[in-house]
Amino acid sequence: MAITVVGSIAFDAVETPYGSRERMLGGAATYFSLAASLFDRVNLVGPVGDDFGDAEMAVLRTRGANVDDVERVPGGRSFFWKGRYHDNMDTRDTLDTQLGVFEHFAPKLSPASRDAEVLFLANIQPALQLQVREQCERAEFVALDSMNLWIDIARAELVEVIGRVDCLILNDEELRQLTGKPTLYTAAREILSWGPSIVVAKQGAHGATLITAETYFSLPAYPLKLVLDPTGAGDTFAGGFVGFIASTAGGASDDNVLRNAMAYGTALASYAVERFGTEALLEVTPEDVEARVADLWSFGRFERIEAALRA
Ligand code: AMP
Repeated sequence: MAITVVGSIAFDAVETPYGSRERMLGGAATYFSLAASLFDRVNLVGPVGDDFGDAEMAVLRTRGANVDDVERVPGGRSFFWKGRYHDNMDTRDTLDTQLGVFEHFAPKLSPASRDAEVLFLANIQPALQLQVREQCERAEFVALDSMNLWIDIARAELVEVIGRVDCLILNDEELRQLTGKPTLYTAAREILSWGPSIVVAKQGAHGATLITAETYFSLPAYPLKLVLDPTGAGDTFAGGFVGFIASTAGGASDDNVLRNAMAYGTALASYAVERFGTEALLEVTPEDVEARVADLWSFGRFERIEAALRA
């Protein structure tokens, strides 16, 4: 199934305890596309400025992604984000966010993007996510990601667009911030009552948890010797998760498909964070991904042995 993604396409400045980069290609839609394109054809939607060069455009075309709806705005500046990670790598401070060409962007999708069966509304203003949702009337599976900034400044639009999707993928803490509920379980149940049938909580170094009306399933993050740069981990996870679902042609209602999607998302995110920016995702091979998915399967697996408990 073809996948359309709208979200930030950006330049990032990043500082981690292991180094820094002044300006590297990033953005939620970029990371998502690099991961999802391992599974199927991706259509990227979003504007960039004329500071966005041919080399960056070539990266967006990785694995045949369709960039017809990546609009270069003359005289415009690309989205820019600057962040600094704390020593634990799980928390970070946003030092700067400049919407640039996203501020006045009015998406008009080409037929290929509009007709995709799978849609991912990656992190960007909720009003823009809604405009794209409305144009993709044929989408059979729609997932959405967001972040604390939009919960703070555009909550009403965010809640509206969440009501129009099948799956919400959000950080654990942001799920609780959005709903005002004290635990992940109660926050996810609240979201399920708004419309989506699937909630995925991203939990950084602790992995991710899937919650549906019937399921509560957690996977740890893949154990790594070193995390160099966590930027894009969440979007890469989403690319693996949504990409796997797209590759099963409508499998989102199958619990086992969702569990496998969690493993592909987790495996891909683990590669992303081992290097800066998009570096690792440009080189990762299908064999690399399958090896880590197999490991994740073995970590979580156990045969039930009932204890002879004393009363
Ligand atoms: P993640 O680490 O998965 O949360 O995603 C990091 C990416 O999100 C970076 O490449 C940024 O360019 C992008 N980003 C950061 N803040 C925003 C925002 N407010 N809206 C859209 N994208 C953002």
